[in-house]
Amino acid sequence: MNQLFVPTEPSARDDAQQAAPVTVAHGDGIGPEIMEACLRVLTAAGARLAIERIEVGQDVYKAGHGAGIAPEAWDSLRRTRVLYKAPITTPQGGGYKSLNVTIRKTLGLYANVRPVSAYAPFVETRHPDMDVVIIRENEEDLYAGIEHRQTDEVYQCLKLITRPGCERIVRHAFAYARAHGRRKVTCFTKDNIMKLTDGLFHRVFDEIAEDYPDIETEHMIVDIGAAMLADTPHAFDVIVVPNLYGDIISDIAAQISGSVGLAPSANLGTDFAMFEAVHGSAPRLAGLDMANPSGLLLAGAMMMAHLGQIRVAERVRNAWARTIEDGVHTFDIYREGRSRRAVGTADFAQAVIDRMGHRPRSLPVARYAAAPAMPAPPPRNRQPARKELVGIDVFVQHVGTTEALADMLRPLGRGRLSLGMISNRGVKVWPDGMPETFCTDHWRCRFTAAGRASIRKADIIDLLSELALHGVDFIKTEHLYTFDGTPGFSVGQGQ
Ligand code: NAD
Repeated sequence: MNQLFVPTEPSARDDAQQAAPVTVAHGDGIGPEIMEACLRVLTAAGARLAIERIEVGQDVYKAGHGAGIAPEAWDSLRRTRVLYKAPITTPQGGGYKSLNVTIRKTLGLYANVRPVSAYAPFVETRHPDMDVVIIRENEEDLYAGIEHRQTDEVYQCLKLITRPGCERIVRHAFAYARAHGRRKVTCFTKDNIMKLTDGLFHRVFDEIAEDYPDIETEHMIVDIGAAMLADTPHAFDVIVVPNLYGDIISDIAAQISGSVGLAPSANLGTDFAMFEAVHGSAPRLAGLDMANPSGLLLAGAMMMAHLGQIRVAERVRNAWARTIEDGVHTFDIYREGRSRRAVGTADFAQAVIDRMGHRPRSLPVARYAAAPAMPAPPPRNRQPARKELVGIDVFVQHVGTTEALADMLRPLGRGRLSLGMISNRGVKVWPDGMPETFCTDHWRCRFTAAGRASIRKADIIDLLSELALHGVDFIKTEHLYTFDGTPGFSVGQGQ
């Protein structure tokens, strides 16, 4: 029962609603004090919430729960389907899993939505016109956590990008843009280098864009895109990105808007949602009544809209904006001359409560409404491609020269497979390698069908038996397939 946040007139129906069940986690560090402040403001705005409290974070980690969440907390989440979460402290050292990654993956929260605006002239920023929404894919990419040490010198992290994953997040980005009256969606990838994985994300972006002719689209390579976002953020509207790039650029965006303490974040899936601030638990500020509760409060407003309590969301956002306009500021955004009153966490919350029912004078007036459901995983009605096995990349640990390795491997394959190429860290070193290329102990040795278009799995097993017999230290293999005749593997120099 997920919803987007559409700008429309306030709906009367939210007044008739029952209390919405919500799971609340107070977190660590500044978490408890900012959560208390936010719940006070939400209550003053008329939020109808049936709160179930759960413990997450440091104490739970220390009690032996490796992901920072106790098993019974999942029961609450299954009941309420909505989590309002203060930041937690992730303990240092091995053996602890990220609570956020665990929650995102367990609850299928595939979309991380981070609206970042400037609040000039009330909050100092070099980018007064910034108003961008970053929609980050939340489950895939290098965050699968599949890592291996393969040789003495080489470690690997697997980057997984799936078509259904791309389709869901890109469709969500376009649906969000249309629902919010935004004019442009920009996609960042690095598909000039990662032609298959990032290439898929870009291709799906282009495909889905065709269903949204009313929305302008652009694609940028992520390095120049991130640089432009930091330099001219007002040139962007909605940005959709794979997981890792999104992680990095959304923090950059939050920081340059004025303070990391201002930015909210929604993690959305088809059945569950989690709302939190972008920032962490700021342990040094803990217990000092100094932290800015705005990020968590604006996340709370997003949650109220998600729950269909539209007027509450608007009341919170408007009173908050009026407080910021009135110059009532926590230390992180307080500037002599620009601000009027320096306040702590609790007094800031009280200032927002005192302005409940007021609208901002010059900042935009909040307008939220509930909207259609999140896109479910796309149906698997595609015809499977014609998949042909045409070879194998055998990764080998070898200390010695390229020539020695090539001489050892060339006679192998029993006439059915033959050595076509060796590369080291993606650079072709045989045949016709350059003597200057630095080589590690990790070699990719490509065997392809000798004179035949396709091979059988048994040919691969025979090859590997032969390699084992000759003492070749193979540490990993990747099958080479064509899909409808198109290679499903990188080809050519430097890949
Ligand atoms: P942080 O966001 O806690 O702090 C970064 C800087 O921003 C610090 O100077 C801090 O004082 C300041 N800051 C953060 N929130 C603020 C606020 N509301 N008001 C005013 N200033 C604020 O990041 P960190 O120091 O890298 O991480 C601290 C802990 O938080 C770590 O254990 C980390 O793992 C955890 N963390 C948790 C989450 C989460 O639960 N979602 C997110 C990020 C980091």
